[in-house]
Order: sequence, then C-alpha cells, then structure tokens
Amino acid sequence: MSVPPEALCRLAAAMLERAGAPPAEAREVAQHLVEANLTGHDSHGVVRIPRYVAWIRRGWLVPAAALTPVLETPVLCVLDAGYGFGPVQGRRAVAAGIARARQHGLALVALRHAGHLGRIGAYAEQAVAAGLVALHFVNVAGSLLVAPFGARERRLSTNPFAIGIPTGDDRPFVLDCATSLIAEGKLLVALEGGRPVRTDALMDADGQPTGDPRALYGEGPHSPPDPSRGAGALRPFGEHKGSGLALACELLAGALTGSGTNVRPRDRLYNGMLSILIDPARLGDGDAFLAEVRAFLDWVRAARPVDPVVGTLVPGDPERRTAAERRRNGIPLARPLRAHLAACARDLGVAEALITGALGEEA
Ligand code: NAD
Repeated sequence: MSVPPEALCRLAAAMLERAGAPPAEAREVAQHLVEANLTGHDSHGVVRIPRYVAWIRRGWLVPAAALTPVLETPVLCVLDAGYGFGPVQGRRAVAAGIARARQHGLALVALRHAGHLGRIGAYAEQAVAAGLVALHFVNVAGSLLVAPFGARERRLSTNPFAIGIPTGDDRPFVLDCATSLIAEGKLLVALEGGRPVRTDALMDADGQPTGDPRALYGEGPHSPPDPSRGAGALRPFGEHKGSGLALACELLAGALTGSGTNVRPRDRLYNGMLSILIDPARLGDGDAFLAEVRAFLDWVRAARPVDPVVGTLVPGDPERRTAAERRRNGIPLARPLRAHLAACARDLGVAEALITGALGEEA
C-alpha cells in the first residue's frame, strides 16, 4: 500500500510530539524523515520513528536541545548539538556554515554529539540550494556495524559522506552514500517486510558473505531491532578503498570534530559531522563553473546506457526521479511496517484519525 506523504508527515510529527518533542521540532524531523522516504531512502524514513521514541525514553535523544558554540571564528565553527534531534541540529549547523561561506568563500563546521542526522544528502542539498559546494563526512558513535576490509570483526559504523555540487538548475549533483555496501536501515526495512537486501551485504561470524539480517540482529523478533545482537557484520563497499574511506569519515567526523570515535564504548548512538562549504563564485567565474558542471553532467548522462529503461544517471537523479513518482503515487510502506508504526502511535496516544488517515483503516 502507498500512503500520502502529507498524512504520513502529520502522523510522524504527532508521534514525535507525543514522545516529547516541541511541535516545531517534531514537524522538522517528520519532514526530514518523509523527505527521505520520498527520495527513495526508506532506510532513513519513518521506519526510524519507533527507534527515536525508544531513544527519547532512554534519554539518548534530547528534545529541544540547544546548539552550543564551542568555537566560532569567521570561517570555523565547532558546535555541540547536545544529543538533540539530528535533522534540527544538522540543519542549524549547516546554516551557520552557509552564512560564513557566503561571507568568506569558505567555511568548516564541526558538529559534535548530534542525534541521528538521518539522510546526509539533505545537508548537501541545503548548501547547494544556497549556491555552495558541500562536503560532509559523518561518523556514528555507539554504532559498531561494519567489519573493515580484511577483518571479520566490527570496528566501523556505516560512516556516510555526501558531496553536493550546484548546477544552477534543479538537477544538482548530490552524492550521498553509506560506506557500507548498504545502509543499516535497508536491513531494518527488510525486517519490516520490505525489499530483501543483496546477498553479499553482510558477513556471518566466519566472514562469509550473506544477505541474512540475522547476521546483524541475531534471532528475532525484537522491538526495536537491536543490531548489536548478531554475530556477523555489514561489509564495506569497494573492498579496501571503501573501507579506507569509512576510516577517513570516522577520523574526520569523530576525531577532528571532537565528537569522539568508536574506539571507546558509547552509552548511546550519535552522529558527528564535519562539513566543508565552498562558494564556487569566489574561485573564479561562478557562471562559467555552473555551465561547466551542467555540460559535464549532461555529457555523462548521454553515455549509452546498459539498461535503456533506467538510462545513465548521475548522483541525485535517482532521488529526484523517485520523489517525483512518490509525490504522485504515494510512499509504499509494507504491511508489517504500517502495523509497527500504528502500534507505536497508539502506544503514544496519538489520535486514531491521524493513524488511519496515514496508514489506512486496517493498520
Ligand atoms: P544508495 O546506495 O541508495 O545511493 C548512494 C548514491 O548513489 C546516491 O547519491 C545516489 O544518487 C547514487 N545512485 C544510486 N543509484 C544510481 C545510479 N543508478 N546511477 C548513478 N548514481 C546512483 O545510498 P546508501 O549508501 O544506501 O545510503 C542511504 C542513505 O543512508 C543516505 O541518505 C545516507 O546519508 C544515509 N545514512 C545515514 C547515516 C547516519 O548515521 N545518519 C548512516 C549511514 C547512511
């Protein structure tokens, strides 16, 4: 069944509000999650809500947290998110970087102790919308999921990164990747009745490739699923090169920001993010840069595709394509996920009309 994005957003906001978020924060987080669903990143969409609710109850995620400056110079900014909602604190941090980069051509923002930042591409899109080039490196403290290349023991999180490059039109380059073969949320979605993951996305305890979510979550059912219970691990993408990039993300986002790496056990899961923002207009002719980017990306898109139905895409195209389709037809949510969300919403005391309005009468 596909659900209307607006109704899903209202339900998500109501759930977060009932869990303790101020209304404006609840709406902002809900919009971020539903936007992730719209762009096709269901792994970072509403499937996360029961986990966020559990984290708020445990005190891991702090509604209405302040964003505290640790250091502020004209181009540098170190900010402590106080374990507040990632989509709220991440957007504020990037806004602080945008203001600096507009004024000085360059900005570096080190964000510490953010609640789960969700879809990292959202922050690249935010900077790109302001005409800036953006690089974001992220670590996930308290989340040991991935075995580095050559190992069969977990040392890494899914350490995502995103790179945004404006084009001056509505088709910017936005590369937004976990450094694991798949984001952990894709397994969560698979557990909730969604599409199965690729058969080599994980390794079992002996280091053998598998697509079985139990390698991460152990034997179920669990609510919410706990990825620390399995004896296996996620695998990095790109063999030793992706594994090296994951380590770089951990060092830049965990060590350089002061947020902390996974070398120490953590009492909760949180993100660090190092963002570098560049105003391309300061490096020369801004219009010529945009024209060159557009010409290059269009030339890439014109390469003869392997599959003519899909075409040759550049990063950002799949998200735009999926969003256009889902805005028209709704967001597909598997029945187990709808049931899980409905149960969580009822437990929180959300009005029945909001639940059935988003998830259908049978939810
Ligand atoms: P993915 O594999 O679906 O996409 C990765 C990138 O590849 C995207 O930029 C996409 O535009 C591009 N792409 C996809 N198909 C393409 C094609 N056919 N041709 C050209 N380019 C194509 O994404 P993922 O690695 O599974 O990550 C999913 C999400 O998880 C991301 O939004 C990421 O930020 C998020 N994430 C967040 C955290 C966190 O802690 N907050 C951790 C890990 C991942």
